[in-house]
Amino acid sequence: MGATGRDANAFDIGVVGGGPAGSFAALLFARAGRSVVLIDSDTAKPRIEGLSPRVAALFARHGLDPQALGIGPRVTRRSFWSGTAETGNGEHLVERQAFDRALRSAASQAGAHFIAAQVKTIETGNEGWRVLCLDDGEQIAVRRAIDARGRRAPMASERVRGPATLTVGGWLSSDAASAATTTVPCRDGWLWHADFGDGRAWLQASFDGKAEAGGVDLAARVEAMLGSDEARAAFGRRLSCPADLLARNADTVLAAPELDPSHIRIGDAAVGLDPLSGHGMFWAISSALAAVPVIAALDEGTPEAIDLAKRFYAERIADTFWRQARVGRDFYRLEERFADAPYWAARRAFPDDLPSHAEGAGLSIGRAVIVENNRLCERAVVRTEQNPAGVAFVAGIPIVPVIEEIGRRGACGAGLEDLQKTCFPEASRDQAAALFGWLDSQGLIARNSDHS
Ligand SMILES: Cc1cc2nc3c(=O)[nH]c(=O)nc-3n(C[C@H](O)[C@H](O)[C@H](O)COP(=O)(O)OP(=O)(O)OC[C@H]3O[C@@H](n4cnc5c(N)ncnc54)[C@H](O)[C@@H]3O)c2cc1C
Repeated sequence: MGATGRDANAFDIGVVGGGPAGSFAALLFARAGRSVVLIDSDTAKPRIEGLSPRVAALFARHGLDPQALGIGPRVTRRSFWSGTAETGNGEHLVERQAFDRALRSAASQAGAHFIAAQVKTIETGNEGWRVLCLDDGEQIAVRRAIDARGRRAPMASERVRGPATLTVGGWLSSDAASAATTTVPCRDGWLWHADFGDGRAWLQASFDGKAEAGGVDLAARVEAMLGSDEARAAFGRRLSCPADLLARNADTVLAAPELDPSHIRIGDAAVGLDPLSGHGMFWAISSALAAVPVIAALDEGTPEAIDLAKRFYAERIADTFWRQARVGRDFYRLEERFADAPYWAARRAFPDDLPSHAEGAGLSIGRAVIVENNRLCERAVVRTEQNPAGVAFVAGIPIVPVIEEIGRRGACGAGLEDLQKTCFPEASRDQAAALFGWLDSQGLIARNSDHS
């Protein structure tokens, strides 16, 4: 087959890897009417992860029924960080093998062509085409290759990697009547126990190490953690180690800081986050969403559009990696009981000592590449401590003119109604309420109303 041929083996978009990032990207491109091939080796083993409620909400917003994807109900999340019992926001339990297959099938239903195979290499073809070489010798030509092979994607040369982290997990039986997850730090690492409330539980232990290293008695390491005072106190007894352990690497890694237009990385293939963040699947899905305007800009092909795509990609990657890595570091620092233990000392120091949020930076107006109507463009944005990359719209309302107007009114101030009439007269009540909520969260309503 010629690499530029328009035969059955040629597609507009080729997605390599059908985890959440790849399958969701394939679904989005297929829905947009592009010809898409999605290739996954389907070799990932069953395992349990916690999915944040905002990922479930994001799927629902894109017309995917969370239940049909195998996303379980939201369960209580308990944590014993710093030795204090706390109950958090809750999370949804997902069995990843079933969930990944359901998402791949949703991509197929949207029109993506699915192939169960291993991609050996991604080669350069003629006239800018890429060639996906499968393990059975088949070759598939694609105009754009999206690399969503997760942590198995070959590393781009430039990279940052956190302490080597090995995570092992396996099934246990349980007599708990209700579903909940429990996170327990101990000297050698941390444990995550997900109880389904139906007789099944999944235990996960994270500690220093590498899956490939071998020669490590994984069960002995898990047993030692389960025998710790912290684990016994949190679980109310000594849990046994699962009989079958699945080992996975979980280092925090910045794999691809720059956009390679011929080989676009999304999800863990670009940035691998610490499982402790609970942010991995959100990043996978949101990076798939971002791939749509990036590829539209690359297809446009002008130097300006390509520059926008490169800047947008690099800013998002940097913002996600450095912010999540520093937030994680701060979280490890909160657990002071084991500060001197090697596992904790390494993570309390990575990636650096810079603050996770630009504290005290306040609000500023700058320019950034944003997505507007599914296209990239450069716009004035408001940068905040929480959104250093910049916000252009709040509830669909351009935010910069609102902030500028508040700045102009300054000391003389004005009522909120008046502000609405001047800056966003067409907004609905819900939009206005959301915008005022955002202004309030930035401390701007009080200042403004004080003067009204
Ligand atoms: C131990 C552990 C626990 C975690 N817990 C959580 C959690 O509780 N919550 C959370 O949000 N995140 C969690 N994460 C992170 C989450 O798993 C990842 O961020 C997410 O799966 C990334 O999705 P992805 O699609 O980028 O990659 P993956 O999910 O890794 O998918 C990659 C896909 O590519 C396929 N593939 C790889 N190479 C090839 C090839 N050569 N040819 C064909 N197919 C290939 C694989 O079969 C796989 O299906 C955890 C991670 C680890 C390691």
